[in-house]
Amino acid sequence: MMAEKESGSERPLIHTTRPISPYEVPTTPFVLSLVAGVFILLGAFMPLVFMGSFGSMGGMMEGSGMREGFDGAGMMGTGSIVMRIVGLAFGGVVLYSAIMLNARPAQHVTWGSLILVFSILSVFGALGGFGIGLILGVIGGALAIAWRPGAALPPTAPAGRFCPHCGRAIAMDAAFCSYCGQQLPA
Ligand SMILES: [Zn+2]
Repeated sequence: MMAEKESGSERPLIHTTRPISPYEVPTTPFVLSLVAGVFILLGAFMPLVFMGSFGSMGGMMEGSGMREGFDGAGMMGTGSIVMRIVGLAFGGVVLYSAIMLNARPAQHVTWGSLILVFSILSVFGALGGFGIGLILGVIGGALAIAWRPGAALPPTAPAGRFCPHCGRAIAMDAAFCSYCGQQLPA
């Protein structure tokens, strides 16, 4: 929901220093990191589900009935709750950094570093987002750090020089217009 809002039509109003085009947002690292964050969050949730069911099964197999089955699950749950909170925090940092990367591309090194580090840390508590979150987060974080504003801009010539007499595009260092022959201001 936050990502939707940030990438909405309000963007040009926030960033007034530079003209914003779709090419100036680190889209690829943002998407990779966003997906990584989601997988890390899933990775933090899933072990609890598995541990819960294993705990119940373990209790049942001991033949001590439903009551102990639930106790077993509870014990497992207590241990995994800490891990789940840690894993959720890691996933949350990666998601938040991805959103901030998209909202504040100028701080791409900061957010890229956070994505990179916390994707690796997600091995603890979130299974590295099943490995997928880890891999996507490392790639996304590295791409975010390496990202350069305007690197993907199409080769247009908005800063070109034009003849004030005939209006045609001329060489930057031309002293005379190659079309109309008029002398050009320095
Ligand atoms: Zn000219």
